[in-house]
Amino acid sequence: MLLNLSIDSVRVKAMRSNGGRGGGAVRQETLREHNLSLIARTVMSAPTPPSRADVATATGLTRATVSRLVTELIEGGLVAEDAPLTAGLAGRPAIPLRPAPGAVGALGLEVNIDYLGARVLDLSGTVLGEATRERDLRGSDPAQVLAELGTLGAEAVAAATAGGTRLAGTGLALPGLLRDGVLLRAPNLGWTDVTPADLLGGPIPGGRLHLGNEARFAAGAELAAGSGGDSFLYLSGSVGIGAAIVHAGEFFAGEHGWSGELGHVCVDPTGPACRCGATGCLETYAGTAALLGRAGLPEDARPPDLVAALAVGDPAARAAVAAAARALGTAVGAFINLVDVSEVVLGNTFAPLTEHLRPELERELSMRVLAAPWAPAQVRASVAGDRPALTGAARAALATVIEDPSAWLAST
Ligand SMILES: [Zn+2]
Repeated sequence: MLLNLSIDSVRVKAMRSNGGRGGGAVRQETLREHNLSLIARTVMSAPTPPSRADVATATGLTRATVSRLVTELIEGGLVAEDAPLTAGLAGRPAIPLRPAPGAVGALGLEVNIDYLGARVLDLSGTVLGEATRERDLRGSDPAQVLAELGTLGAEAVAAATAGGTRLAGTGLALPGLLRDGVLLRAPNLGWTDVTPADLLGGPIPGGRLHLGNEARFAAGAELAAGSGGDSFLYLSGSVGIGAAIVHAGEFFAGEHGWSGELGHVCVDPTGPACRCGATGCLETYAGTAALLGRAGLPEDARPPDLVAALAVGDPAARAAVAAAARALGTAVGAFINLVDVSEVVLGNTFAPLTEHLRPELERELSMRVLAAPWAPAQVRASVAGDRPALTGAARAALATVIEDPSAWLAST
């Protein structure tokens, strides 16, 4: 039923766009585009590689249509065939379909507060090229940093395209508020009104630049990794703290796309000054710089140094993590009371600290969340891997191919 409704709405759109005159050819083409996308999405999101018959069942399309369009997707490098499964009693052996490795890729870029990086990913999720640099980027010059990022991107792309991969686009993850291709403000970088497309230097790999908040992109990588539910609050730990709200597999973006600034939720109005201009923000307790400072580690220490100090039971490190966990519990508890999400995913620099944060964090949540006796918060570490916003940024660019395969096929 849903499928029929959506095909009908596509038909109506096609007829309207054609003024209702001579719409037959337009309808056919629009249906083909719609069905190609439906099949591509089905293959890309299937938990196990589906056969053509499985795709027909899942989409409601005829086997003949699925076979014809799958052939187009295979020829365009989007879908690949696995070895045939053993035949059953009736019919031919089923051939599993999966995202094609290597042929189509996208570049993910990221500027965070203490590193910048580039990663090329293909449709199967394999990393084809990567280049990262660790650097304190607080108060940095955007032109200089983005030019360097462009160079890192070119390195990653060179590694990928040497193997024959074609790029579908570029995603760029940034730790701040974005609107219409402009980074309005990233308090920890000290950047305002920056237009990254103008500063990356040279043409954008794959032709299109998709900007996104780093926590949102990282949560996209988490969703794709798919180890938990499809509703969660994702926390991205770094010098700043970002968050993304995922409900039933969809992001809650907010009215302007600016939701998730959990790092600037106040946990103590009399607390330390934050770089945003306010006081007592969560990140002044649980951001990386705050954690390392309170743990008594040197200024050039890195998050692994804190993990090492915790491993030997260093009292200052334990006290710093406990204070961070209580601050996290205060902010996240308020959030859960408001929006009723049970799963909390600790990402980026929080991930390796999960078991150290857990006792105080869970204690705070069980005290502060009114519904805790019936739906206790589930705290878990992210499984999206190292620097997940790079993966999420590349995935955002790859999604354009999956959403509109016919445009990609026409360009090959
Ligand atoms: Zn703040």
